[in-house]
Amino acid sequence: MKILVAVKRVIDHAVRVRVKPDGSGVETANVRMSMNPFDKHAVEAAVQLVEAGAATEIVVVSIGPKQSTDVILTAMAMGGHRGILIETEARVETLAVAKLLRAVVAEEAPDLVLLGKQAVDDDSNQVGQMLAGLLDWPQATFASEITVVDGGLEVTREVDYGRATVSVPLPAIVTADLRLNEPRNAALPMVMKARSKPLAVRPVAEFGVDVTPRLTIEKVSPPAERPGGKLVGSADELIAALKGELSELEAL
Ligand code: AMP
Repeated sequence: MKILVAVKRVIDHAVRVRVKPDGSGVETANVRMSMNPFDKHAVEAAVQLVEAGAATEIVVVSIGPKQSTDVILTAMAMGGHRGILIETEARVETLAVAKLLRAVVAEEAPDLVLLGKQAVDDDSNQVGQMLAGLLDWPQATFASEITVVDGGLEVTREVDYGRATVSVPLPAIVTADLRLNEPRNAALPMVMKARSKPLAVRPVAEFGVDVTPRLTIEKVSPPAERPGGKLVGSADELIAALKGELSELEAL
């Protein structure tokens, strides 16, 4: 089985995101960036399938600026075999990302495409589903368990009412949820080794996909500041504080 894994470079999840003073977006200059957390679970799942003898090759793909090679290298340090960077400085919307991935699928002919369930920068949760639609492939989203069975996969999904297991024939699209696995931290020798793995950097124009944004961002503003919490020393103090807040609300 050949696996394609899509990884996105986003603002590190531990960074406090700041809105630019002119409201045109969020500050990314001099901000720590890293692999989208859900994508780490997708890479880990691919590596585990190789370790279990169920897959033979992992191709890692990212769409973004030159610096996105960092997240491809991280994925290759975790166990990916080679990487493709589709280089662009522009903001690429989800449908264009899905179309670019479709073009890579046409070239690489993977049996499985693994993605994160969503990118934590814009929280779209769209690319995997769009790619499945464009390719007319079966999809299993929000995967928390993947089992290889004869002719396909059994995927346990996180759903509103709990967990549901679906069977998908290959080729298929699977998007990873947080409970899927515990992503490994690549040891230094693996990080060094990743640097000698093949990484193709290709301009977005090579793929013949119109990446012109269809959405205009009018304004980005930070959420309203939340008032700080109060610490109370006892249950009695808590009741008194709640009563105080209740009478304040009643007085409104
Ligand atoms: P989204 O639909 O934007 O929330 O993203 C869902 C998943 O699609 C992510 O977790 C990634 O696996 C993949 N993805 C989104 N944008 C990119 C990108 N620019 N490059 C590579 N993969 C991406």
